[in-house]
Amino acid sequence: MSNYFSLKPMSEGTDEIENFHSYFYRFAKLHSTTMIPMARHLADWWESSFHESVNLKDVYLYKANRLPLCGYNDAVVNYVKVVSIAAHQPNLHRTTILAIRAAADTVSHGALRRGRAWCPACMYWSEKEGSTYYDRLLWTLAAMKRCPVHRIALVSHCPSCGVQQLCYHSLAGMTHCAKCLASLVQEPATWIQSPHPGFGESDCVALVSAIADGTLTTSVPRAFMIFCEELRSLAEPFLKGRHNPLLRVGPRSWRMTQINPMLGTMLKRCHLSGVNLVDVLTDPRGAARVAATSPRF
Ligand SMILES: [Zn+2]
Ligand SMILES: [Zn+2]
Repeated sequence: MSNYFSLKPMSEGTDEIENFHSYFYRFAKLHSTTMIPMARHLADWWESSFHESVNLKDVYLYKANRLPLCGYNDAVVNYVKVVSIAAHQPNLHRTTILAIRAAADTVSHGALRRGRAWCPACMYWSEKEGSTYYDRLLWTLAAMKRCPVHRIALVSHCPSCGVQQLCYHSLAGMTHCAKCLASLVQEPATWIQSPHPGFGESDCVALVSAIADGTLTTSVPRAFMIFCEELRSLAEPFLKGRHNPLLRVGPRSWRMTQINPMLGTMLKRCHLSGVNLVDVLTDPRGAARVAATSPRF
């Protein structure tokens, strides 16, 4: 049993769901401490409760290539396992992209951006309304360049000192610069409008939405390899003597079927094939059949 306080992630079940790193920041604060002592306390608690050691390396909270702790590497697996039980939240994996782990490259660096990014409008309104500020899972994806709700470009630098925000200040809170401690809240006049969705945005939103509402909990292992193999087998009879745009961009992709792709590569393959990312992750053969019947094929 856990004697830790229960805490729900913000915006559960929606594409605005909080990311695990932000959640863990708030979880530590709820216990009147900061992330590193919290991680150590949890590791000790886990060991004494379950007689099993767990690796909650605190380096992931402030360093580890400056990636937010919500990707799909082993550190995220461990943190989610422990904190889910400690905080009485069985669905904490939904604050991460662990759901793509079986289908994605093992390094996992390409999926997330280095450091933080936030929507200045979301931060501004949270401050104005006095509601709890949190960083969204969607903003951690490298492909996301704007907030789809406000259509404002995401921001990663302190407006006062200009330093890129690579991690959270342990005490100052998520709306303050980790270096100079100034407020990161910016007036509307400084927001940069971004009316059009960037490449991969709709697939990223659909991915986070499917993770958040529980539709996508795990991917078919090697989903993209299966998708490519199936598409090639469907395509070959029609391709002799034809210049098919899918094949023009394809050869390199087709040959790389022994390696799980990075999220960025997945987004490109989906775009070229005219299929949805979540469909490939959950039903790669079905998605290949859809791609083979699409007009661009
Ligand atoms: Zn926003
Ligand atoms: Zn600053």
